[in-house]
Amino acid sequence: MKEPKDSAHKLLRYCLAMSFLLPACSFAAEVQELRLWQAPDHTRLVFDLSGSVDYQLFTLSNPHRVVVDIENSSMAGNFSNLDFADSPITGVRSAVREGNTLRMVIDLGKEVKPSSFTLLPNSELGDRLVVDLYDTERAAETVRPVSSIPSPSMDKRDIVVAISAGHGGEDPGGIGFDGRLKEKNITLPMSHALFDVLEAMPGYTPIMIRDGDYYVELQQRPQIARENRADLFVALHTDWYKSSNAKGLTIYALSGDRADRENARRVAQKENSADLLGGVGGDIDLDSWDDDVALTLLSLQMAWSMEQSLVAGTRILESLDGITRLRRDKVQQASLEVLKSPDIPSILIETGYLTNPEEARRLNTSSFQRRMAQAVAQGVVNYFYDAPPEGTLIAWQKENGIVPGSYTVKRGDSLSVIAQRFGVSLSDLKSSNGLQSNTIHVGQVLTIGGISLEPAEHTISRGETLSEIATQYRVSLSSLRQANNIAGDRIMIGQVLKIPAS
Ligand SMILES: [Zn+2]
Repeated sequence: MKEPKDSAHKLLRYCLAMSFLLPACSFAAEVQELRLWQAPDHTRLVFDLSGSVDYQLFTLSNPHRVVVDIENSSMAGNFSNLDFADSPITGVRSAVREGNTLRMVIDLGKEVKPSSFTLLPNSELGDRLVVDLYDTERAAETVRPVSSIPSPSMDKRDIVVAISAGHGGEDPGGIGFDGRLKEKNITLPMSHALFDVLEAMPGYTPIMIRDGDYYVELQQRPQIARENRADLFVALHTDWYKSSNAKGLTIYALSGDRADRENARRVAQKENSADLLGGVGGDIDLDSWDDDVALTLLSLQMAWSMEQSLVAGTRILESLDGITRLRRDKVQQASLEVLKSPDIPSILIETGYLTNPEEARRLNTSSFQRRMAQAVAQGVVNYFYDAPPEGTLIAWQKENGIVPGSYTVKRGDSLSVIAQRFGVSLSDLKSSNGLQSNTIHVGQVLTIGGISLEPAEHTISRGETLSEIATQYRVSLSSLRQANNIAGDRIMIGQVLKIPAS
């Protein structure tokens, strides 16, 4: 934690010293910077402040404006180069009123619904005032339930996996060992990679909780998953520690504690009760039960979700064991805000430490991000094949003895017959195998719901040894030598090694 209020302390000392001369001296704050983030349904303005402030916000129309009066404040930054493209904002002005109130006027091209709050200093940033401008037109369409999207096979639904890329926008997450790498910039491409792998799998529909560099509230994340009827919620993060030695991957699962409290709160509020159990258990309307029964139903649902979170986490951990170092070889249960959905099995993966230079460099490469995504997807697929939700294509495949993976073309096979046999669409089968035409030949191996791991590459940096690299990627030293035609242990800085499948 750094000391962000240094200047405020100096000012305080100055004011105390001068107070007998200047009775009006107050704890003035400066607006130092203004930042802007565009989310699908709102624009976030963040005012960076030199100290805490009192403020008032109101709207004016004709033309539409949002006015923020910040008491005892002055303007220190210059916002002339802010880019308001794609936002409802046409400009930001400021003026000092009544001696020491700073009035910020946000000029708008159309009406918005504002909401605002202040944030206390954290290890990275000082006091902030956040103003969210919700788009009144777009708000209704931000969450598009996937139930309306037809699945590849008419009557068999897809398994829906909600992917939550940690942090975003105003919230950078952890900062790397070099002071520059940001967690939010690792979790998003990794989530996109996971999305791509799952989307290519017949029987799966992934959804992105956030799809760009903006922040989605923690409480809203499971809510979006629920509205999309997700069968599993996967949050991707990177870890942080004060020393650079900490390393390895950790998986957390939905914990009873928080979910229990969440259940009680929901029952008390009867909040979204019709939707609450919709994710997995059909629609049970809590309003039609008294509170005791409702709580019992939710508890049963939650016991199931917790157990499933552990099972799913374990399958994913097994799958990741081959590609990265594990900090814990068992799924951890934690009371994390984002894992509080009582109805959807939920896991959070800390994929490695950004504060560890070796892991950070690896996490920041797209090949490792894809490899990580493929291993997570493999774990997800293994989990669902064990116990597929009723009515899904995967359940149907399992009933019909179809094991996702590879299929070797036999005499008399045609692509459309194979597609039919596996319950996948012809176009899915072709795209997942990179086929341009319908021509196949006997002995050809087709991928059907299988995932192959990205061959990894590793660029050698100063001080690394071949055996360390082998350990890092969980491959044997001899297979690493063989894959790279190396006889001894000699490697060079900057040399690119192929990492074989373990
Ligand atoms: Zn995080």
